[in-house]
Amino acid sequence: MPEVDPRTGTDKFKVIIVGAGLGGCACAMAMHYAGFEVVVYEKIKKFLRLGDSLGLGENALRLLERWGCLDKIVAIGNKSPVFHMRRYDTGEILATQRLLDMAGYIGHRGDYHQAFIDRVLELGIPIHMGTNVAKYNEDDPSVTLDSGEIAQADIVIGADGIKSACRELVLGFTDKPKSSGYACYRAYMPGSRLKSDPYAKRLVEKDCMNVWIGPDLHIVQNTCKDGEEFNWIITHKDEADILESWSQPGDPKEAVKLVADWDPTIVNAMKLTETCLDWKIVYREPLPTWISRSGKVCLLGDSAHPHLPTSAQGASQAVEDSACLATCLKLAGKGNVRLATLTYERMRYARVLKTQKTGEDLRIRWHNALKKVQKGEHIEPDSIKMRNAWIYKHDAEADARERWQAVSKQIQKEMDAGKVSLPADLLGEDRYDIPRISAEEQAEIDRIVVQMVKDYPPSYTGRDTTATVMAPIVGGVA
Ligand SMILES: Cc1cc2nc3c(=O)[nH]c(=O)nc-3n(C[C@H](O)[C@H](O)[C@H](O)COP(=O)(O)OP(=O)(O)OC[C@H]3O[C@@H](n4cnc5c(N)ncnc54)[C@H](O)[C@@H]3O)c2cc1C
Repeated sequence: MPEVDPRTGTDKFKVIIVGAGLGGCACAMAMHYAGFEVVVYEKIKKFLRLGDSLGLGENALRLLERWGCLDKIVAIGNKSPVFHMRRYDTGEILATQRLLDMAGYIGHRGDYHQAFIDRVLELGIPIHMGTNVAKYNEDDPSVTLDSGEIAQADIVIGADGIKSACRELVLGFTDKPKSSGYACYRAYMPGSRLKSDPYAKRLVEKDCMNVWIGPDLHIVQNTCKDGEEFNWIITHKDEADILESWSQPGDPKEAVKLVADWDPTIVNAMKLTETCLDWKIVYREPLPTWISRSGKVCLLGDSAHPHLPTSAQGASQAVEDSACLATCLKLAGKGNVRLATLTYERMRYARVLKTQKTGEDLRIRWHNALKKVQKGEHIEPDSIKMRNAWIYKHDAEADARERWQAVSKQIQKEMDAGKVSLPADLLGEDRYDIPRISAEEQAEIDRIVVQMVKDYPPSYTGRDTTATVMAPIVGGVA
């Protein structure tokens, strides 16, 4: 009979997760499948359907499939196989990509969140709602709840989001965000509202996703439920004071003013909007570490590495973290939590930095692509395409297994020498270089896209904004 640990009251490896967002829920699933006893604390009493569109990439989907959560997610996601990048004023299609190469399955964040929560509960993992974690205790890993109760475990994982209190414990200081110089107005509304407008109605005929790019601005539009629900997000320059919030109301009229002379198909949809959010995009320097001094408290998801919306990887990287951390803990064994968490950090850090960078890279390319290009002039479609395909090939669980021996051996050596390097100090000159897939792989994807467009033609090409008749697509899917 395995001995029962008097601290945790169980012989199993016990995991406390703080936060039941998508990151915390993914982590709960991964830990459960690794055979651990998991408990989740969430300060919110009841989740509302908050946020708007969120993408889950193939890198996350293959892990979620292993955790029994794939079907629900696929059912929620936008069914268009492709998305189109358009010229801001004419709506002309400049490039087309697989939706899976953009953001994967895009659905309402609240619906995905509910699917994650449902799966966690199905697995019998307790989520204590309305339970704020007031204090983290790192040597004897435990958390103190608002009630004063102390809950103990073998590891405490802070999946507590962008305003993480766990991060302060891990770092020993408050990590303040900076203004990124950009903000988004974001709106989510019934698709039926667009039906009365001759231009905007084309965006809700069937599931679709489009991006209009112009000088220093872009608008992303997405539908859910085959056009029943409609979402637009405009990213613009904004130097206003930082208020890091997912609930700050904005004025849709202010958003419309920014794009008054843009393609009426999207601008008219924006004009039909009653409410929107004003979401300041804040920037955080990469953290020096995600792991506390004892190694028994660690960060995961947005608390460790928030992503820009243009990376479309915030939730997916939290899912990858979960798989990697669970694998490392399992391979390390119960007495080696610090070795496991430091190995997790070393394995994840460089990759996450590059996935974060994709968001900035894309925004820069979209905001500059048309600055010197006249109407009708050709631009190279590749110059504005998302370059995320390298991200999607990754299997975080298999990768952790494969690299465990080499990376954990190195960490053990550093632990024995009493000096573990910070992950940022090990990055090379190429720290921000975004990998590319091979030309052959890209050619194969482009071939698939041509067929996808034939099977699922866009509801308008934008050349003639009054036309409902399709014109041929030029330059989009080369
Ligand atoms: C309200 C909201 C709306 C969003 N909308 C979008 C969107 O439309 N599109 C998009 O791409 N991304 C959106 N995001 C971000 C996206 O959900 C995250 O990038 C991704 O899911 C990974 O998040 P996470 O689980 O690491 O953190 P979060 O989703 O922030 O979850 C953290 C959780 O921890 C809980 N928590 C924090 N402190 C404590 C504590 N002391 N005790 C107990 N619980 C605590 C929080 O209540 C929260 O539920 C949104 C996030 C939020 C919070």
